[in-house]
Order: sequence, then C-alpha cells, then structure tokens
Amino acid sequence: MKITKMECFYVLPRWNFLKITTDEGIVGWGEPIVESRSQTVAKAVEEFSRILIGEDPLRIEHLWQSMYRTTFYKGGPVLTSAISGIEQALWDIKGKYYNMPVYEMLGGRVRDKIRMYSHCGGKDAKEFAKNAKERMEAGFTAIKTGMTGPVKNIDSFEFVDTYVSRFAEARSLIGKKLDIAIDFHGQVSPAMSKRLCKELEPYFPMFVEEPCQPENVDAMVRVAESTTIPIATGERLFTRFGFREVLEKGAACVLQPDICHAGGIFEGRKIAAMAETYYASVAPHNPLGPISLASCLQLDACAPNFLIQEHPSLANGWDRGEGYLKNPFKIVNGYIEVPKGPGLGIEVDEDVVRERAYAGDWDSPRFFHEDGTVADW
Ligand SMILES: [Mg+2]
Repeated sequence: MKITKMECFYVLPRWNFLKITTDEGIVGWGEPIVESRSQTVAKAVEEFSRILIGEDPLRIEHLWQSMYRTTFYKGGPVLTSAISGIEQALWDIKGKYYNMPVYEMLGGRVRDKIRMYSHCGGKDAKEFAKNAKERMEAGFTAIKTGMTGPVKNIDSFEFVDTYVSRFAEARSLIGKKLDIAIDFHGQVSPAMSKRLCKELEPYFPMFVEEPCQPENVDAMVRVAESTTIPIATGERLFTRFGFREVLEKGAACVLQPDICHAGGIFEGRKIAAMAETYYASVAPHNPLGPISLASCLQLDACAPNFLIQEHPSLANGWDRGEGYLKNPFKIVNGYIEVPKGPGLGIEVDEDVVRERAYAGDWDSPRFFHEDGTVADW
C-alpha cells in the first residue's frame, strides 16, 4: 500500500481536517492544527507530503521519525501539530487495513468507558452553579472552569478575594460531589498563582491547569510545591521531550498532551508511559473537533493512567461530530463508550466537510491590560 494524496480542509468553526488517500482505496483522517494557525500547519502538512507520498502508510513509527528527525530542525507547535494530524490519519488507515481499533494495536483497551469533563462557567457564582448543576443532571461528574480575564503580574487583594469568593460560593451551591478543575490558562504569574492556589485549597479544585506560563519549568515547580492542589499542564508541550523535564522536576502530576499538537496518538501513549513512572496521570487536552476527540479516545482506552478527557461542549454538538461524522459520539452519564470501529472508529461525511469549509483564518482573542500592555490569552 502506498500514500497517494494528502488534502487539508479548513472547516467551521476553526478546525483543519486532513484526508490521506492510498492506492488501495483506504483513506484516513486526522486533525492537524494549531489554534489560530490553521493555514501555517496546512502548509507544513503540504511540505511533509514530499516525505510521505509513495511511502507505505503502515510504517507509522518510521514515517514519524522521518518527519521529526530528517528535517534537522525539530519540534515546535507548527511542525509537531502537522505530524500529529498526519499520524492520526496513518493510524486510521492502519486500523482499517487490519480491521481493528487503534487501541487494539497499542496493547488493547484497559477500560470499558471513558470519563469526560465539560467546560462550564457563568457570569457570577449563581449562574456558574446553575450551569454546573445542569452538567451534573446530564451525568457529568467533573467540569472545568477558567479565569475571568487578564491578571496583573502582582494583582490586588480585591481581585483574589473576588475570584476566590465566587468559586467558594459556587462550590457551596454545587456541593461536594462534582469535581471542579480550574484552568489558569497561563494568565497568572507564579507569584499570584501561589496566592490564588493557597486561597482556593479549602474548596478542593480537582486540579489547577497551567498555573503559569509553561516555558520555565522551575517556576511551575515552585507553584506546585507551594500547594496541595494537583497541578496539570501539557497543552503547550510537544513530544515526549517536552514532557521530560516537567516529570523529572515534579512540575505537574496531571499531564495534558494535546493529541493534535504533541505528536499524535502513539506519542501520547509514550508520554502516558513516562508519566506512569512518576505516578502521574494523563488527561488529554482537547478544545478541538471530532477527529481530535476520536484520536483522544483511542489513547484514553488503552492508557492505564488516564484520568479524564476534556471536551469543549459546543452547543451545536459539532465537537462530538454532529454532521461531520455519520455516527457522532454520544456522551451518556458523563462517559463515552470505548469506540469499537476500525482505525479511529469514525466515518467522516466528506460532503459536510466540504459544505462547512471556510477560509481557515480564525484568530485567537487578544487581551490587553488597562494600560494598553499585552496580556496573555
Ligand atoms: Mg488549558
């Protein structure tokens, strides 16, 4: 079998799908994207096609090594996201060729169903609690909430008190049953992160995610060592090499590789195995589309130290594959059943992919402090 064609589709709301075609008629799908850099990643996919066209798609490790290493300049979000989407599509092809799900080729499933968490927020504590209770009624046992906007490097007592009081009030309305994670989104300095974590501890967040920017691992270590709240990170780390220092130094105990950024499904499995040796968990990052979700689920099914799967919870269900997939994913009582179909376990409706095409120019929001200086998204 040989790879004959690689085609990218920019699709609404902000995604990029890849279709790889073979000379035996088997096609595979992947989702190569960096948020707000769809066009750049699609170009990288096109450049990688020079390595891939004419090659045997079943030699996934060899092709991964060829893409990652023969180009000399390794890694970074653009190149590893292109590799990730390609890798997903290669596993989809391989699974269809052998008529088995990807997880069967990675050791087999270790669980029957996959625990999901939903994004959840609100303009104040009461609205947040109301939305959280709706998620509980739908069966979810965990949610994740976020920051409320730019945070100054050294912010005020009023800011900390307002943020923590809102969380505390919501927690008292919601009760103890629901796990609530908080994503600081790297918007908080290490100094402010320590203050916030200390005040949030009594309300038992499931974990705090990206308590500061991820580039300086030692800074995150100092936050992690200052609090009993588990620290999560990983959506902006790439390949197993990006996670090594985080584990070795104890910066986080919940690793969140993005299967569309970190190098793909098998790379995610390798990162999960590394995490196991530090008694850490994996909770794959996923704010993206249904092919990303399908890829995450293949990893979640076979990684023993999987914790929980992120799920963006779009109201129109596009993230679960409404329209895009002939059989969209169903979340029942907060879980998705381990998919049984071959490859990624999905059937993409190419007509809908073409109908929902857009220019690929979705851009991330830009935040500024009150004095006009740039704040982190
Ligand atoms: Mg995040």
